[in-house]
Amino acid sequence: MTDHNNFDVIIIGGSYAGLSAAMALGRSLRNVLIIDSGKPCNRQTPHSHNFITQDGENPKVIAEKAKTQVLSYNTVKFHNDLAVSGKKSGTGFEITTQTGSLCTAKKLVFATGVIDVMPDIEGFSACWGIGVIHCPYCHGYEVKNERTGILANGYFALHYAQLVRNLTRHLTVFTNGKADFTQEQADKFARHNIPLIEKEIASFDHENGKIRQIVFKDHSTFALQALYARPAFEQHCKIPEMLGCELTEQGLIKTDMFQKTSIANVFACGDNTSPMRSVAYAVGAGNIAGAMVNNEMTAEEF
Ligand SMILES: Cc1cc2nc3c(=O)[nH]c(=O)nc-3n(C[C@H](O)[C@H](O)[C@H](O)COP(=O)(O)OP(=O)(O)OC[C@H]3O[C@@H](n4cnc5c(N)ncnc54)[C@H](O)[C@@H]3O)c2cc1C
Repeated sequence: MTDHNNFDVIIIGGSYAGLSAAMALGRSLRNVLIIDSGKPCNRQTPHSHNFITQDGENPKVIAEKAKTQVLSYNTVKFHNDLAVSGKKSGTGFEITTQTGSLCTAKKLVFATGVIDVMPDIEGFSACWGIGVIHCPYCHGYEVKNERTGILANGYFALHYAQLVRNLTRHLTVFTNGKADFTQEQADKFARHNIPLIEKEIASFDHENGKIRQIVFKDHSTFALQALYARPAFEQHCKIPEMLGCELTEQGLIKTDMFQKTSIANVFACGDNTSPMRSVAYAVGAGNIAGAMVNNEMTAEEF
């Protein structure tokens, strides 16, 4: 890439949401630069499920296939780099990358996803996306009827329990410290014979990410084959906040139904805007963002 590049649109994040936005824009003859640092949130999971035509495929293979298709539109360029700052400029925006490239565009699309913050439990990170899973729709079928745990407290434990009980009856909730349930919630767990274990967790015993047992701080253990968990998350990219994009209370970028953020000419799509974390959702939101960016441009140009 040269030192200075002008584009119609810069898409930051070139995974499912970003590539989907790029396809709609490439097919609209827009000059597009995708900047991607190559760290999608699902990179450790061996198989991705629940996205039609790609069910069970390796997530990297899905993204590579998408990238090949998108880059066949010759107005779309892909740059492996990390966008580190962004600011408004006379005609639009300036984005600077870690390697020192400076690019400008009239419009921006942030498809930057989120970072799951690994809790301080030895083995959690190694099991993430393998034996420790985030979503019953993505991975629940593969561990149906298995001895399963839910690592959560309060409302989320109940929410997971009612979803996961549909897939297995061998279910235990681990609150990793004092349980925090209303009487009504506790009664529901009791009614469905779901044990609640409050013991603090020290580590996960696993083989290549496949969880074998939970090891508690009191050295007791609990054998299981799968564990649902919902770690905290943060925005993967801070540039939307630098530009003044409003976030929701949950820390997601606020958008309207057309993926427009609170800042004019800045769009966002995928995991960074929604708790509905799935490849299908990211692709759908990216598709809308791409079309809406082009829609604005055609209106401005006409
Ligand atoms: C462990 C795990 C397993 C999952 N399994 C499934 C599954 O089986 N089925 C399913 O449908 N969904 C699954 N999901 C959810 C799915 O992976 C996400 O919903 C999807 O990846 C979101 O796509 P995205 O494009 O919004 O973000 P991501 O895929 O996370 O991609 C964001 C991209 O932006 C890049 N980026 C971020 N900041 C910058 C920057 N400043 N500069 C340049 N690039 C940047 C990142 O490097 C990354 O490539 C899983 C999620 C996890 C965590």
